[in-house]
Amino acid sequence: MSGNLYVVSGPSGAGKGTLLAQALKGRDDVWLSVSATTRSAREGEQNGREYYFLTPEEFQRLIAEDGLLEWAFVHGNYYGTLKDEVLKRRAEGSDIILEIEPQGAFQVQAKHPEALLIFIEPPSLGELEERLRKRGSETDEQIAARLRHAELEMALRDRYTVVIVNDDLETAAQALKTVFEGSMRGGSMRL
Ligand code: 5GP
Repeated sequence: MSGNLYVVSGPSGAGKGTLLAQALKGRDDVWLSVSATTRSAREGEQNGREYYFLTPEEFQRLIAEDGLLEWAFVHGNYYGTLKDEVLKRRAEGSDIILEIEPQGAFQVQAKHPEALLIFIEPPSLGELEERLRKRGSETDEQIAARLRHAELEMALRDRYTVVIVNDDLETAAQALKTVFEGSMRGGSMRL
């Protein structure tokens, strides 16, 4: 039987990565997709682990070859999900998680209406700014752009089936874990 398809979005700095790591502890039947991007690697990121880091030409080739399940141009860079890998793992029975922004999320939903869309919301935009500054990987200008983008993303959260407010990490991770365990399907909810 093919696995479930989950799409997780939320503003950069909303804590998606940490939450996902916490919620997926001990779940080796779930596969977190590794996207392709043209942005440069941050300190500590490895090619093939966080992302496949590609040149714009390589990325364009993937688009032309219809190799992407979805893609978007955000913050001046391309991001996309490698189609073959996702479909193969899903067919093998793994649950798949795509951690992608809303434009991509809705492309996936159009192709796979059974996908469950989850939005991770930061407690506030002020808190988000603080987290981005603490991360220290972006310039002031990049942070300002990410905050503007965050506002646009937040305006789309009602189109997601599940919204989880990442106020307290433990509570939010538990909520996400429950969603991944499949016991929260149908209807929309805010946790
Ligand atoms: P970052 O540069 O902070 O790693 O990611 C920036 C944004 O791109 C995040 O909102 C992240 O969810 C999104 N993103 C990462 N991979 C993909 C992808 O494959 N497709 C799309 N559409 N967005 C992605």
